[in-house]
Amino acid sequence: MGLIVTPRLVKLTTRSEVDIKRSFPQPALRRIGAWVFLDHFGPTKQVEGMMVARHPHTGLQTVTWPFAGLMEHRDSVGSVQTLRPSELNLMTAGRGISHSEISQPGPAFLHAAQLWLALPESARNIEPFFEHHGQLPVLEFGSSVAKVFIGSLGSAVSPATVFTPLVGAELQVSGEMELPLNDSFEHGILVVSGELSVNGSAVGVDDLIYLPVGEAAQVSGNGVALLLGGEPFKEHIVMWWNFIGRNHSEIVAWREKWNQQTEEWADFEDRVGGWIPAPNLPNVTLQPRS
Ligand code: MN
Repeated sequence: MGLIVTPRLVKLTTRSEVDIKRSFPQPALRRIGAWVFLDHFGPTKQVEGMMVARHPHTGLQTVTWPFAGLMEHRDSVGSVQTLRPSELNLMTAGRGISHSEISQPGPAFLHAAQLWLALPESARNIEPFFEHHGQLPVLEFGSSVAKVFIGSLGSAVSPATVFTPLVGAELQVSGEMELPLNDSFEHGILVVSGELSVNGSAVGVDDLIYLPVGEAAQVSGNGVALLLGGEPFKEHIVMWWNFIGRNHSEIVAWREKWNQQTEEWADFEDRVGGWIPAPNLPNVTLQPRS
């Protein structure tokens, strides 16, 4: 039986009333394959909307998967993209990128998952780029479906760019699905809505069940879930604020350059305006961890 992980609640700091449910990292679960960060917010009524001003990333890919609502993404490589439900938004930060996100008026609710993938050593210093995929492969299991937004599941392969073997899929469950999992991956299943069980254990909305390498997954009930998985990511990393590096001094250098707004973070125009300064570093040396 898998470990069931309850998210911790965090407040988004920037001009927002949105409560974030963070499944990992937390002491009970650090990562799943190269998936190192999972926030889930909403469904929330759009009152003020969500605005996240320009901020940087390094050494990772951000994956934004909306369930409801519209957001606008802008970034320092010139992308302007409306993020819509069931379309993949993938930003490969590589050596460094900055972006902002603003929810758009119209839809009554805002609901999305935001995830990070750690880039392996071979890719973490590449030039940044952004991609958007509206056409994604679907696997059907009777009346249930899996939309594979990144990586691969069974015969379905997403067109999104990945750098380690992994999977990310939205499961729309109505009945039972026996997932064709890769037996060299560890997996997690986050219940987004409805009433679902995994391998016979009920998993509540917002909870995630972690399945070690080689464990099968039979999902049953009626609801929506996210399947995440990957080969165990063996590199030791330092995650601090919006950066993923390999040691303390890299983080210190990125933080200083960002707070000085050096040229490499190329500015861009958006409707939020301004940028989010990096906070103070803790008074200890950041240690790489597995
Ligand atoms: Mn971001």
